[in-house]
Amino acid sequence: MDLDVVFLGTSASMPTARRAPAAVLVRRGGERLLFDCAEGTQRQLQRSAVGLAELEEIFLTHLHADHVLGLPGMLKTFALRGREEVGLTVYGPRGVHDLFAKLKPFLGRLPYELTIVEVEAGDTLERGEYRIEPFAVDHGVSAVGYAVVEEHRPGRFDVDAADALGVPPGPERGILQGGDPVTLSDGTVVTPDEVLGPARPGRKLAITGDTAPAPAVVQAAHLADLLVHEATFGADEKERARETMHSTSADAAEVARLANVKLLALTHVSPRYFGPELAREANAVFPHVVVPRDFDTVEIPFPERGSPRLVKRGAAAGETSYHPVTMGGMVQVATAGDVTEAEELQELLRNAGIEAEIEADGAEDALRVLVPEGSLEAAEDAIEALSEPDDLISEP
Ligand SMILES: [Zn+2]
Ligand SMILES: [Zn+2]
Repeated sequence: MDLDVVFLGTSASMPTARRAPAAVLVRRGGERLLFDCAEGTQRQLQRSAVGLAELEEIFLTHLHADHVLGLPGMLKTFALRGREEVGLTVYGPRGVHDLFAKLKPFLGRLPYELTIVEVEAGDTLERGEYRIEPFAVDHGVSAVGYAVVEEHRPGRFDVDAADALGVPPGPERGILQGGDPVTLSDGTVVTPDEVLGPARPGRKLAITGDTAPAPAVVQAAHLADLLVHEATFGADEKERARETMHSTSADAAEVARLANVKLLALTHVSPRYFGPELAREANAVFPHVVVPRDFDTVEIPFPERGSPRLVKRGAAAGETSYHPVTMGGMVQVATAGDVTEAEELQELLRNAGIEAEIEADGAEDALRVLVPEGSLEAAEDAIEALSEPDDLISEP
């Protein structure tokens, strides 16, 4: 059963040329669960390899505009496409009913059934093989995060043990594998624990939405395979993070460390950051950190098959949609706190065959590292490789 997360929008507050605002798609087998639906999310889906699927469930973390503005347009598109049979459920924290009452004039009458469900921390949405658990976050408004938690899987079937007990090959073995006892033709009862190894853990991922660092998030993300945590700010904006009830990348890393997760993915990045600098700061606290860009994915295999890993452009539709096409101009690829850091970056880029320039950023008391526009993607890759260990990344 495949499980991955598609980062459709990774920017905080507003879209930028390179990042769309918040939306994350969880794909589990054939299921598609959308978490937040910022402005332009339907177009991000269209531009991705996923396409604009007939989503059946959308989960809102909170009702700030940069997480919900994409909903009316997407719901209208489904209507215009003639969707009738398949209903759609939107889950959200307290206030989501009021939001939809206000949206009514925009939405008009929809030809399919739209259900709004208010959730709160502590609820459990059962899905059979897994469950979705809203959890408390700390954002100063009605808000939740969501954990997707798979149930334990049955242990491995021990063929030798079944042979020794006289269980014939056939349906009896299937019944035992499914967790029920069987009675053999001679009257002997065989129970599952006699032929199955220990139950194997399922997978778990947690998506915070916007939040200051919070003990409730540590608890909800405990031992998760993947924690998708907001990192709106870097260490230089720690006070602003406190005032606005957001997190710095180091805050998120500390939550990941305390929760003992396998991989931390930082998202909801303020437009002033590029990603690698946030990864570097987080790395000082917690080693397994990635800062996905739009259309990157994180694959979460079953634990016995490996660790979660970032797949760059894992859900990109093609190579054309995203490249800067014009040549000649110099564009900023990173900021550096001091001359030494800037020169290190310049040296790193030179080793990657890219001639970078350093420019003072008068307003911010920092240095800007510039590269030719046509080399921007290669330069970003080179800088990211610096801050993300190879084993966390693979190319699609
Ligand atoms: Zn936000
Ligand atoms: Zn918010």
